[in-house]
Amino acid sequence: MTAHDWYIENRAAFVARSLEPVEERTFRDHLGRCDQCTREVARLERELAWLPMAVTPVAPAPDFVRRMATAILDRPARWRRHVPLAAAAGLALVAAGTALAARSEGRDLRVALVARETRLMALEDTLSVLRRANMVLQTRISMDGYPQGGMLIFQEAVSHRWGVIVHGLPPAPSGSKYQFWFITESGMVRSVEVAASMQRPAFMTLPMPGVAAPVMGAALTMEPMVDGSSEPQGVTLAHVVF
Ligand SMILES: [Zn+2]
Repeated sequence: MTAHDWYIENRAAFVARSLEPVEERTFRDHLGRCDQCTREVARLERELAWLPMAVTPVAPAPDFVRRMATAILDRPARWRRHVPLAAAAGLALVAAGTALAARSEGRDLRVALVARETRLMALEDTLSVLRRANMVLQTRISMDGYPQGGMLIFQEAVSHRWGVIVHGLPPAPSGSKYQFWFITESGMVRSVEVAASMQRPAFMTLPMPGVAAPVMGAALTMEPMVDGSSEPQGVTLAHVVF
């Protein structure tokens, strides 16, 4: 294995943001010197542009921990069984998985390997919410009366989770934050803060709120940073009721 093979094997892992911080720095340095890797990474990033990368599910599926443990203890056969994902993502993750398997010699790598696989499986779990969604809602976000990006809600009925994507929203003004709310029959229920960036959509995997009242919709508001009140105090940016 030449030194460059390591870069070739880890291109997909780099794009999937699943390298360790030190490795990621090494890889990034290399990109500055290698046209071939730069081209390949750009191609992979184009193919996977629709994927929200490096996400950790807020609410793992009930069988997530078991599947993760099984896959880690009994590789690679079981690992393969959990692939494929959606076509493009599947290819990249299989490539990443193969690269990981090839590097599994050496106890020092074991911990890093498990951490990386955990992240890849977290990504798979998160993607499953999108793939199995039985309803997708799209709503426009408006700021100061002007359209500014949008919000997509994927409802998945099997594990009762939502995948929520917020795109095209600038970072919240200082002292403010974006807040996601569930609208239920008994009122609004505070969910998560949305970290917005124009470069990359914000992605969240959310469990249903722990209230008995049925969920009727969702809202996105701008709230004061320090505020923790149970009802929105700020401006409503998006509001959708089913
Ligand atoms: Zn290279």
